[in-house]
Amino acid sequence: MDNTEEDLIRPIFKNGGYQNPFDTYEDTLGQGPLMLKLTRSEDHSNIPNQRELDKTLPVETPDFQKLKNPPESDIQIMWIGHASVLVQMDGLTILADPMFSDRCFPVQFLGPKRYRPPPCKIKDLPHLDAIIISHNHYDHLDPGSVKSLNSKYDDKITWFVASGTKEWMINAGCKNVVELSWWEEAEFPGRPDFKFASVPCQHRCERTLWDSMKALWCSWIVKGPRHSFYFAGDTGYCSGFKQIGRKYGPIDFAAIPIGAYYPSLFMRSMHVDPEEAVKVYEDVKARYALGIHWGTFKLTQEFYLEPPVKLGEELDKKKIDREKFFTLRHGQVHTIGQHIPS
Ligand code: ZN
Ligand code: ZN
Repeated sequence: MDNTEEDLIRPIFKNGGYQNPFDTYEDTLGQGPLMLKLTRSEDHSNIPNQRELDKTLPVETPDFQKLKNPPESDIQIMWIGHASVLVQMDGLTILADPMFSDRCFPVQFLGPKRYRPPPCKIKDLPHLDAIIISHNHYDHLDPGSVKSLNSKYDDKITWFVASGTKEWMINAGCKNVVELSWWEEAEFPGRPDFKFASVPCQHRCERTLWDSMKALWCSWIVKGPRHSFYFAGDTGYCSGFKQIGRKYGPIDFAAIPIGAYYPSLFMRSMHVDPEEAVKVYEDVKARYALGIHWGTFKLTQEFYLEPPVKLGEELDKKKIDREKFFTLRHGQVHTIGQHIPS
């Protein structure tokens, strides 16, 4: 089917709120029996003390020289931790879902606490051009990080957000904010050879008890003159990925979540597990992918080191080279590209 003929899936907007258009979505929040199952399910996370964590999940000091001088023809990336990733390609530096605070919650004395520190401070980050935000949950849109980024970069950066989040960004002091709904595209200011597109995923949005589904969630495509980047954000498995692959694939580099999936009955509508993450990788036609959304905050109950192990097993099962869909250490700067045809 030709891209232009395809019936692209759109979010449902009803009674002032957004809904998932996918039959794979089930509203598990607020379901009594499921909540009971969740509280009865065993917590396997077993996060050890800091000394042990320094061995199993070491945090690297980023190679700032490399970040300051990104390669011209390759894609350079850094995993900051959780869903935060920095991508340098085709002369643009893009930061996705920046989260540098200790807790992902409205107040910093409650809520899920970070068990691995960020590898650097916002003031240490290199020159930035764009920041993409997938949705408004606190582990992806952190007020403290937004504030620090604005004081360092002010009007020199452009923020890309999904529908319904622009007002929050403006109130938080962001100067240049581009708000897009699924399948809408915007050129990067001053770089008409760069396109940012909001694309579908299966998730939800709320920052308080009163604003559930008032804003939209999305994944992002960044298409440069030579390379392309797909940022999945938070998502359950859905039919949107095959459409993204048909419209924008092949994609040179993808960041796909692999953690926060157990108990699956409760989480599967909102978060993919490693097995589904590999399906996303295949559907969007990614050449290389980084596993994100694990190893930083305790959000769910799978063993804290399980996501990359299960990812490796799934890749082996499907005979996909483990180097194609990999994980990094916090702060690790990595180059991909020798094998990417330009
Ligand atoms: Zn979320
Ligand atoms: Zn999340």
